[in-house]
Amino acid sequence: MNILDLQLPNKSSDYQILIGNGLLLDVNNFLPVIKGQQVFIVSNETVAPIYLEHLKKTLSQFEIHSYILKDGEKYKSLSSLEDILDSMLNSGLRRNATLIALGGGVVGDIGGFAAAIYQRGINFIQVPTTVLSQVDSSVGGKTAVNHPLGKNMIGAFHQPVRVITDLYTLKTLSNREFLAGIAEIIKAAIIADRQLFYWLENNSESILAQEIETLSTMIHASCSIKAKIVCLDEKEQGVRAWLNLGHTFGHAIERVLGFGELLHGEAVAIGIVMATEYSVRLGLLSSSESEAVRRLIQRFGLPTTLDSMNFRVSASDLVSAMALDKKNVDADLTLILPKAIGKVTIRNNIKTQDVEQFIEQFLE
Ligand code: NAD
Ligand code: MG
Repeated sequence: MNILDLQLPNKSSDYQILIGNGLLLDVNNFLPVIKGQQVFIVSNETVAPIYLEHLKKTLSQFEIHSYILKDGEKYKSLSSLEDILDSMLNSGLRRNATLIALGGGVVGDIGGFAAAIYQRGINFIQVPTTVLSQVDSSVGGKTAVNHPLGKNMIGAFHQPVRVITDLYTLKTLSNREFLAGIAEIIKAAIIADRQLFYWLENNSESILAQEIETLSTMIHASCSIKAKIVCLDEKEQGVRAWLNLGHTFGHAIERVLGFGELLHGEAVAIGIVMATEYSVRLGLLSSSESEAVRRLIQRFGLPTTLDSMNFRVSASDLVSAMALDKKNVDADLTLILPKAIGKVTIRNNIKTQDVEQFIEQFLE
């Protein structure tokens, strides 16, 4: 088992991420961080039929309750949250209970938020079951639900007491979701870990074959990067913005195509290529490094352009969507841009006209 110790500025919220195979079958992984007798598991209708009974059996010494969410981003909503809270109250859940989120980022975000606000906050354990949730959403303590006017608009910071990443659960994840999660790992490597970038290149076959040892090393390395950045900036004032590499372009792509056409990680993959090429345009990055980024993304079967996916979009639509993303239509853009593989910089005052020109060329 790989263990990552997360040390947060507020020492009392330090916690561990355990990474290994079959971890949800061993009660010892849970015991040190469960306080009372009551456990409330939040999962969804895809994950629960496969893993919920196993987890309940592991925790059979506790009084267990569960809530099964419908599957999909649209259920990360206030009305689902209300349902979860109703169910927690109906179960007679006390303040010393522990909420366990068993599932991907949707379950983790809404489960975490329920734990953050139930009786002003209860114990929370994440059992992330997608690559994305294992390397991204389970690290950093952000919890939220969506609002019709914006994604993740209602939420709280609430750190888990432990993250238990059972690599075995990835066996049932679709290949497309698996690869989309890798996009966030490539992103982390470009931001802060050159060595990881080349390790990904050298180990791509083993990763694609989902060899457990390789996955464990990869997820540990990727979580460490996010953990370091988050520890420097727990409440998102400065360097945490680095994690948005590829996301301003990526969100714009998601918005213009309509959410759901591409998986988030796929849009981010294209967004990373765009940020990298834009960086070359500004003279910040060499074209050979930008080429290496494109090659790595391709190697993992992720998209690098929009036309390879047969999508037709215009540069002006994308730029407007980017401006919208930052709520600064007609104003300058801020972008996270790589200076080298393993180093990024935050650039303000980027002219939308220049980005639009760049996108026109990119789309050709
Ligand atoms: P998801 O939770 O929707 O999971 C993707 C799909 O995989 C779903 O259909 C799910 O049911 C299925 N699934 C999950 N685990 C499975 C398994 N082991 N086997 C088979 N199927 C499985 O999506 P996601 O990509 O995990 O997370 C996306 C969410 O995470 C978004 O809501 C996003 O806003 C959020 N997010 C949060 C943070 C944060 O810091 N809190 C960071 C990044 C993303
Ligand atoms: Mg992301």
